[in-house]
Amino acid sequence: MQIRFYNTLTHQVETFEPLEPPTVTMYNCGPTVYDYGHIGNFRSFLFADLLRRFLELAGYDVRQVMNVTDVGHMTEDDLADGGGEDKMQVGRRRLKEAKKSGVADVSDPDDPFQVAAFFTGAFIEDARRLRMRIADEYPGRVPRATDHIAPMQDLIRRLIEKGHAYVSDDGAVYYSVETFPDYGRLSGNTLDQLRGGAGGRISDEHQAQKRHPADFLLWKPDSGHLMKWDAPWGEGYPGWHIECSAMAMHLLGRETIDLHTGGEDNIFPHHECEIAQSTGASGAPFARMWMHARFLLVDGEKMSKSRGNFYTVRDLVDRGIDPVVIRYELIKAPYRSNANLTLSDLSDSGKAVQRLRRFAEGLEQRSTGEAEVDLSHPVLARFAGALADDLNIAEALATVFTWIGEDPPDADEALAVWRRIDSVLDVMRVAVGDDDDVSGRCRAIDDARRDRDFDTADQLRQGLIDDGYEVMTTQEGTTARRSLT
Ligand SMILES: [Zn+2]
Repeated sequence: MQIRFYNTLTHQVETFEPLEPPTVTMYNCGPTVYDYGHIGNFRSFLFADLLRRFLELAGYDVRQVMNVTDVGHMTEDDLADGGGEDKMQVGRRRLKEAKKSGVADVSDPDDPFQVAAFFTGAFIEDARRLRMRIADEYPGRVPRATDHIAPMQDLIRRLIEKGHAYVSDDGAVYYSVETFPDYGRLSGNTLDQLRGGAGGRISDEHQAQKRHPADFLLWKPDSGHLMKWDAPWGEGYPGWHIECSAMAMHLLGRETIDLHTGGEDNIFPHHECEIAQSTGASGAPFARMWMHARFLLVDGEKMSKSRGNFYTVRDLVDRGIDPVVIRYELIKAPYRSNANLTLSDLSDSGKAVQRLRRFAEGLEQRSTGEAEVDLSHPVLARFAGALADDLNIAEALATVFTWIGEDPPDADEALAVWRRIDSVLDVMRVAVGDDDDVSGRCRAIDDARRDRDFDTADQLRQGLIDDGYEVMTTQEGTTARRSLT
């Protein structure tokens, strides 16, 4: 199968071929853990999840790393060396609120490591709810920036040795953008534009330390910083960009990786700086293909707290929306378009998931045995073919719904096809045991039926339905799940 993706670096759709098939190495910029992740963040993470699952469907063995940024990220990250305050300061305030409302059981919400640990846990929980495969890979121990200070310092040392980085008079280590002719290639910036754009945005005192206004911070000695480590350049902390270069190369074990993803807001400065750091140190191309998900719009506008259209995953779950519906909603639009989420339209995604589940359950009932199918099956070929076309999920879903509408006659074969499709979509699996209370009530129904006490079984069943669940009893027993519409 020929796979073609849009590469931000070359501004064109290109054939994707990993360096060492069947392995694909992929790095995704992950969350900064000072607050709960919002649905825009998760659209970008789920895009990476969809990409990985499609590549696996296509037969590749994907080695995926998504980092957790728990140090070095400043509130004004559109500047290459980050202005504003440490995001962990914001995190302290958030954790204090969470402790006050009884959500966070922490001893010291001022401790930045407790802030990071708490919101890393929240991220993993949200990722699991949204069925991101990445969360299964690192149970309880995602790759944290603070666990990779040594590889970051190594990389900084190499950059200084190669003349790409210098120590300024005030002891900070900067990357010298003028030593890297390709700086600006990814984002379409030139050094002259950046020189002009930086004027007045950073304090003169800070700028005076740098050789070029666009030089960015690799290490900042600051004994007063919330998190700090010993370094040859003084006790301090790493810049945000160096962590992704160091972690991608260290954890994937390659200087050149196949795929690097992020949100479109990562293109500049973050990914531009990553390329300069990685290639500056290794002399080799860093990521062969860069893919960026566009912003998620909510009610037709960019999400912001001031507009009142800002939602975390938890906000939606608290409104009774099933996480699988959120997953479907966030993956259903092609990643290079601005998906628009409207709360009132979420029921469309609920209905779509419901329809897929009913279809699959119908097949399961009619199925009499296992069938084998591969990607040459016409339905799978169309589904995978659409995804091979720059991950065109809208077209892939249209293929699925057309097929469902045709009511495939061979249930065994259709079920095998569906299972391959659902290995990408992951909407079928019912999260049994998510809710102990509900699974307990299901077991009580089965017990009553076994005792032939059908009145009790009916009452228990009706109770679940009244609470908004769909209840199914099969030979394997009773299951219930929240109604999706
Ligand atoms: Zn990153």
